[in-house]
Amino acid sequence: MTDTIFGKIIAGEIPAELIYEDEHCIAINDIAPQAPVHVLVIPRQGIARLVDAGPGDQALLGHLLLAAGKVAEQLGVQDAFRLIINNGEGAGQTVFHLHLHIIAGREFAEGHM
Ligand code: 5GP
Repeated sequence: MTDTIFGKIIAGEIPAELIYEDEHCIAINDIAPQAPVHVLVIPRQGIARLVDAGPGDQALLGHLLLAAGKVAEQLGVQDAFRLIINNGEGAGQTVFHLHLHIIAGREFAEGHM
């Protein structure tokens, strides 16, 4: 577990709007949504950044992608959503506990990020 705001949310010390949970991860609404749907998929295990994951985390990383797909289906956005991982401060990562952003409900211009 990392000592971050997400670690505290997973420990139940800070409230969050829970969308989904299983034994390996939780999904919560982002506190400052950048789109009508903005959900964070967060592993219970604290890995600071994607690049800090190792071969032993392979199953967990796959699990997070499958969970993101399930959450997208649960929210009815399975046909138009984006998954984003910000890795490192230079890429805008602010919470150093690995997480996936599910973004949906807005227009996605073709060929643009
Ligand atoms: P990053 O920039 O690290 O990829 O994303 C961190 C995200 O966590 C941001 O989108 C930010 O709005 C969100 N966030 C930060 N603190 C909290 C919090 O206490 N609760 C929730 N639900 N989201 C948070």
